[in-house]
Amino acid sequence: MSSLIWYLYEFARKSWAESFAVARTNPEIVETPDRFRDFPEVFPEHCISCGACTAACPAPNAIRLVRSEDTAEEEGKAYPVINHRGCIRCGFCAEVCPTVPKTITCGENHLIREEFTILPTDRMFVIDDYLCIRCKKCLKACPVPGAIYEEDNKIIIDQSLCIGCEECLNNCPVKGAVKGIFISHIQEQKEIINLVVNTLEESIERKRDDITHLSDEEVYKFDLSITELVERARSILANDELILDTFQKITDRLKLRIVTWDEDKCKKCRLCVDECPSGAITYDEKENVIKRDTKKCLRCSTCYQTCPFGVAGYFVSRFLLDPTSLEDGVIHITVKASQLPIGAD
Ligand code: SF4
Ligand code: SF4
Repeated sequence: MSSLIWYLYEFARKSWAESFAVARTNPEIVETPDRFRDFPEVFPEHCISCGACTAACPAPNAIRLVRSEDTAEEEGKAYPVINHRGCIRCGFCAEVCPTVPKTITCGENHLIREEFTILPTDRMFVIDDYLCIRCKKCLKACPVPGAIYEEDNKIIIDQSLCIGCEECLNNCPVKGAVKGIFISHIQEQKEIINLVVNTLEESIERKRDDITHLSDEEVYKFDLSITELVERARSILANDELILDTFQKITDRLKLRIVTWDEDKCKKCRLCVDECPSGAITYDEKENVIKRDTKKCLRCSTCYQTCPFGVAGYFVSRFLLDPTSLEDGVIHITVKASQLPIGAD
């Protein structure tokens, strides 16, 4: 009882109330140490969409990857969004984010700092949910209990437990489903990815005459030598291992959509002009011609599905890297007609 009275007396003093108020309101005294964590801050422009943050987050519904809308200038980009109602401010998302500078920051990083990383390899392993067939061979092969687990029908690697032994990668039967992402030279990797995608797209554009008349059953194949690509990639990053790895990853997953345009079939009905969501198709009154701006085109297929006269063609292409060496490797390219329904309703 006497201690209770002492507490009441202590709290009732004017000096205590004053110092309490100052401590709450005076930023000079209550400066928050760096290691105290607030909600993570997101810088979407750095994101490479690897999904490591969502895989590392222990709180349900606290973080998810969203994709911004495509615009006339560029395709939409994926980036993480933090739900403050779910986030427990553990900062794991910031710790595992491999980009430099980081896409997610959350106070001082405890585990991964530039000068000291707990990752025992220069790669971080993640499961590509798009390619994963849930056979769980990685899970069985992993020597660390709990480092790979299944949640909501997804296979996830716990980055804080992974020892980088590569057993998951070596035992996965699906090419590209487990990815070993190099955590250095992220910007250069991005530039090389853009270089490869643009080169592949241009090489298919040049074959336009060969693919325009493909029937539903036909497949058009050709090879692109990577010699010139390699030279250009080396001028971005002088690291052959990383160049080969980046080429491999992008051809494993890339699917390009191609739109062709046969002007001779056009009856100038202009249905496509109104339907195209990016304003890529216009009617030139002077020349009485329908024009399609390939730079604005999103390859969404709306024109292909709208045009009753088959002016627009729609094809998909897949890729396979066949590198005997970086010097004389080729990318096998396969183009086939889309199976989407054609013509206006
Ligand atoms: S829908 Fe087809 S036919 Fe009509 S204007 Fe467009 S391209 Fe020409
Ligand atoms: S695919 Fe056709 S409708 Fe879609 S953006 Fe390109 S031109 Fe426009």
